[in-house]
Amino acid sequence: MLKIAVQKSGRLYEDSIKLLKECGIELNNGNKQLKAVAFNFPIEVFFLRDDDIPQYVYDGVADIGIVGENVLLETAKDIDLVYRLGFGKCRLSVAVPKAMHYNGAGDLNGLKIATTYSTILQKYLTGNNINAEIHEISGSVEIAPGIGLADAICDLVSSGSTLFTNGLKEVEVILKSEAVLTANKKLSVENKAILDKLLLRINAVKTAKNNKYILLNAPNDQLKNIAALLPGMKSPTIVPLAEDGWSSVQSVVNENDFWEVIEKLKSFGAEGIIVLPIEKMIV
Ligand code: ATP
Ligand code: ZN
Repeated sequence: MLKIAVQKSGRLYEDSIKLLKECGIELNNGNKQLKAVAFNFPIEVFFLRDDDIPQYVYDGVADIGIVGENVLLETAKDIDLVYRLGFGKCRLSVAVPKAMHYNGAGDLNGLKIATTYSTILQKYLTGNNINAEIHEISGSVEIAPGIGLADAICDLVSSGSTLFTNGLKEVEVILKSEAVLTANKKLSVENKAILDKLLLRINAVKTAKNNKYILLNAPNDQLKNIAALLPGMKSPTIVPLAEDGWSSVQSVVNENDFWEVIEKLKSFGAEGIIVLPIEKMIV
């Protein structure tokens, strides 16, 4: 049985549970309990505070865990980062009062910076030869300059609206973070095998999200050009249409190049383009 730690409530909770669900793992209860057992996969879920997850994974109380990379780096536990999950994206940034003239990281010299991320911040300051004082606080970091507790802050940002409403501006990004799957370094052979199974499923879900299934009709004289645009997993499927001179083309297209590919397809005379989401994709 593989034990996985996920956040009990908060920003990572829903996406973590959704990911397990998309991997076909069904849990017997919600997060009101400390634990939930899956009835169709050998996994047990522990619901914990995110800050505690690296320690539990390190101790082996949980075998694996889902946590923000920021928390993983801050706690600095010797555990493996196994997979970047692509949700919970944010950045750890330094922000200063809007009115401050800021010309570069050197301007942080001599300032007092409030943060809950003192380990990561100290590493950044040392690495950039900046001599600033870190004032560690446990929450509501964004109000620190306003109440005279610090000159600047170092905190998590996603949209930047919290900084804005507190009269601050983001000046240095010191870490780009997302949710990651972490694992204890000494998994049993049995648990390692379950983790590999889980990773295959996570990969299938993530790959599917990054790709779309595409169907279109193409004039036969343009099939070479169109097939070159849509390499798909191996090569596109091409089937003749009932109407002479036309074929149906089916393939997979990556989300990142999507609009560019569609424009080119149209310029090659493609018609009746249909794009569908893919639920799972195993390459
Ligand atoms: P807990 O009660 O589990 O200790 P928390 O309040 O410390 O929760 P949340 O605010 O739920 O934590 O954030 C969890 C994680 O979500 C963060 O560590 C970070 O990786 C990610 N995250 C994404 N966007 C943001 C954001 N705008 N602010 C804070 N965290 C964010
Ligand atoms: Zn926390």
